Amino acid sequence: MKTLDQFNFAGKRAVVRVDFNVPLNDKFEIGDDTRILGAAPTIKKILADGGCAVVMSHLGRPKGVEAKFSLKHIQNRVAEVMGAEVLFADDCIGAEAVAKAEALKPGQILLVENLRFHKEEKNGDVEFSKELAKLGDIYVNDAFGTAHRAHASTTVMAQFFPENKCFGALLAKEIESINKVLKEGEHPITAVLGGAKVSSKITIIEKMLDTVDNIIIGGGMVFTFVKAQGGKIGSSLVEDEQLELALDLLKKAEDKGVKIYLPADVLAADAFSNDANTKVVLSNEIPDGWMALDNGPESMKEIKEVILASKTVLWNGPLGVFEMEKFANGTIQLGEYISEATANGTFSLVGGGDSVAAVKQFGFADKVSYVSTGGGAMLESLEGKLLPGIAAILA
Ligand code: AMP
Repeated sequence: MKTLDQFNFAGKRAVVRVDFNVPLNDKFEIGDDTRILGAAPTIKKILADGGCAVVMSHLGRPKGVEAKFSLKHIQNRVAEVMGAEVLFADDCIGAEAVAKAEALKPGQILLVENLRFHKEEKNGDVEFSKELAKLGDIYVNDAFGTAHRAHASTTVMAQFFPENKCFGALLAKEIESINKVLKEGEHPITAVLGGAKVSSKITIIEKMLDTVDNIIIGGGMVFTFVKAQGGKIGSSLVEDEQLELALDLLKKAEDKGVKIYLPADVLAADAFSNDANTKVVLSNEIPDGWMALDNGPESMKEIKEVILASKTVLWNGPLGVFEMEKFANGTIQLGEYISEATANGTFSLVGGGDSVAAVKQFGFADKVSYVSTGGGAMLESLEGKLLPGIAAILA
């Protein structure tokens, strides 16, 4: 793997693709600066070596040039976090950007304007990529969140740095964490797959069947499996067109010796509301008019045993409708079990979708081994795909 440590940036100008797509409020204040903090190790290493950095990112989904999506809004915060002077170029390509990049002194940063002000960025335009490549001598990709997109700055521009390209520290950590589960995971390996729909997780479930020892299924997905097996699911979430596939997955798991855990009991509600009446029922005996919105106590006992006996845990997707307090218990307890297992030496990766929001909300982010920074990119990695942004560095 071509990592940052293999380069000495002294006297060099690095072009660093980061993910500074941070939420801004209507006063253009940053709501959550996790992504800026996430890029700090990479940028600080470049500057500490005696190099300078041209930093590029997208922000939001602008249609052409739109001032509200300007990266200028975050310039000061980037300077604070990096502890360095940050200059700004009003366009990510062109004479001004090149001149400012060439004038950078060691220890300085040039932040260039939103890449997506040019439609060529998302189109992966080669000429545009070539213009971006003029900004530095070494290309560093540290944007895991967009590594699954073959955009100009995430993938295409890498070809203009045949020898001088590498992963940033954050992207390297993401790859390492995925490998620790999919390639070098210590057994027993358990994947917890929750969330709303089976249809969005099919490829992941199939990939996991080749990798793990146990799959714990949770969330709304459960009831497609339960119905397929002939259970009564009341008005719980179901995808009727996936019933056959659900049975097929269960059969494949059996053939491969992978144990699938579906919850024995659930917390059912008489409305999709935090004010609903609730009761614990068996997951295959949900009364008409009731819907299951969380796991029940018996199923959580079983999950606890499986998690605490695992050496590697992947968690993708909540076990219930954790956005409502009444249905958050299963997800919170799972976070506790995974934290406990991690404290005992288990490697735990949380990634892809709402489980990341859940671990942050409930305070488990520091108690698991790694929380992924990329939603879609993580999901595609778990499906076993080599992401274009990663392939471009490896090429
Ligand atoms: P995903 O994006 O696939 O990870 O799905 C996350 C969503 O699934 C969250 O918004 C949860 O509220 C929702 N969810 C979890 N459990 C259930 C359930 N039993 N019924 C309906 N939705 C659920």
